[in-house]
Amino acid sequence: MKQAIVYHEDYNKYDLGTDHPLIGDKPKNIMAYLKEKNLLAEFQVFTPKKATEADLLKVHAAAYVDHIKKLSQTGGWLSEDTPAPKGIFEIASLAAGGSMCAGEKLFEGFQVAINPLGGFHHASKGHSSGFCFFNDIAVAIEHLRAVHHLKRFMIIDVDVHHGNGTQDIYIDDRSVMNLSFHQDGRTLYPGTGGMETLGRDDAAGYTINLPFPPGTGGVSYLNAFKAIVPPVTRQFKPDVILYQSGVDTHHVDPLADLNLTYQTYYHLAKQVEELSQETCQKLLVLLGGGYNSVACIKSYYNVFCGLLGKQEYLEEEDIPDSDPAAVRHMVSQLKASLSEYWTL
Ligand SMILES: [Zn+2]
Repeated sequence: MKQAIVYHEDYNKYDLGTDHPLIGDKPKNIMAYLKEKNLLAEFQVFTPKKATEADLLKVHAAAYVDHIKKLSQTGGWLSEDTPAPKGIFEIASLAAGGSMCAGEKLFEGFQVAINPLGGFHHASKGHSSGFCFFNDIAVAIEHLRAVHHLKRFMIIDVDVHHGNGTQDIYIDDRSVMNLSFHQDGRTLYPGTGGMETLGRDDAAGYTINLPFPPGTGGVSYLNAFKAIVPPVTRQFKPDVILYQSGVDTHHVDPLADLNLTYQTYYHLAKQVEELSQETCQKLLVLLGGGYNSVACIKSYYNVFCGLLGKQEYLEEEDIPDSDPAAVRHMVSQLKASLSEYWTL
């Protein structure tokens, strides 16, 4: 068995309220669906522990960690879109610990490890919003850097929202290649992630953003992915790949306006897994956003099918791209600006 998944019952307490898009019981529903589809047997399940304060402090400012701790005692609001329920410090620490635990499994003989409560990419060093408290992606990276002395980390973030927190943390760090595909920030939270943001100083070329116009469908999306991600990954030669596999790009997702379908997630995950096999054989998967309670579970299921290279997966009718020429144009512009750093 070469796949690991981490899961804790308390994951389902990451619940921001009944009127909030973040569904508390999503991790439980994912596990139940995998079981129903006979896929859970292909994974070894591990129980994560909370990240310690020392783990969090490798990424976050002390004042910020204290702020979350205090909010967690009383309940309150982290930001306008992010309520902080009582006890959230412990649960968010557990989510971050889950990504660390999954990362550890990559050094215990597993080539793929999944944290279903991971991918909190809006959390920056000292502030956050967008339902995120601690940036588990960065906490896992800093853990792997310290303990296993890894040198090159590749983030492939396909959540519909730009990973602004991760970008803030690594904008001037060339040891982390941070690649984010998302809906154009002029039309969606958090508003950042323009193509012109390429990294700072000697880390120029190590931040890559591809913002898609609303209405982009799976065919254009996959073509863009194929044009950029494999060549950059092969040249960067990562020691580990972190895949934020958010599925809020799905056409029925209530928070955004891209038109990906179930099969897109299968093909994306399959390609990422193949790239991992080709380069580092270490793939940490953080499931990320998804806000339609039915579609997100099916979409994540297809991520699992892609990672396992299953012949069978869920399919639905493709939704035509609203403007494929615009996406092609954007990809050629991005290729042109990256040509200074990478051969594409
Ligand atoms: Zn998202």
